[in-house]
Amino acid sequence: MQHVKATLKPNVRLVAVSKFHPVEALQEAYDAGQRIFGESHVQELTAKQEVLPKDVEWHFIGHLQTNKVKYIASFISLIHAVDSVKLLKEINKQAEKAGRVIDVLLQVHVAKEETKFGFTPDELLDTLATEEWKTLQHVHVVGLMAMATNTDNEAQIAQEFDTVSHLFATAKERFFAHEPTFKELSMGMSGDYLIAQEHGSTMVRIGTTIFGERDYS
Ligand SMILES: *Cc1c(COP(=O)(O)O)cnc(C)c1O
Repeated sequence: MQHVKATLKPNVRLVAVSKFHPVEALQEAYDAGQRIFGESHVQELTAKQEVLPKDVEWHFIGHLQTNKVKYIASFISLIHAVDSVKLLKEINKQAEKAGRVIDVLLQVHVAKEETKFGFTPDELLDTLATEEWKTLQHVHVVGLMAMATNTDNEAQIAQEFDTVSHLFATAKERFFAHEPTFKELSMGMSGDYLIAQEHGSTMVRIGTTIFGERDYS
């Protein structure tokens, strides 16, 4: 973990992506000072949250189903990949029940892959323009999240991150000009975080480089 931290710019925060790794691995990272952990399955997250120290900041980084929001609403610090207004409304509802305001990022789809979720850049700006999100008092949109195409073509990856970075600037200017808390750009995984942080990332989500390969068996 320290070897990863040493390569991060001072303004970039590390989300240690611990999915599929046992609590012992998380505890070890915690003991070494790591506090932000990213998980992408609700059941796995809630099981780990119960046993790890209470000052861990849990981030949900995967695709979140609306019917599962209720299981994490009481403790989640940041939901990275909000990809619909329906999900945003459900988070708002569950946050209200829990007496909280939950920070979220809106996911942008820029990768050349069918399987990646998220708003296209046009959909994102259109959605923000409706201002419906502003009526939701228990969710707080603090930035954007994106994944680049899984490719060795670094120029393409850089271009995709750059697109998101420009979109972030446009959204900020049009819709969040008076909100200093709209400042997060979650971009970059093990294979591409060095490129991501050159293109404005403030939060990188790194699993394999910290914990090793995941065992899906
Ligand atoms: C698993 C995952 C990561 C971490 O990927 P690594 O390549 O292991 O660093 C980052 N972001 C999301 C959304 C993920 O699902």
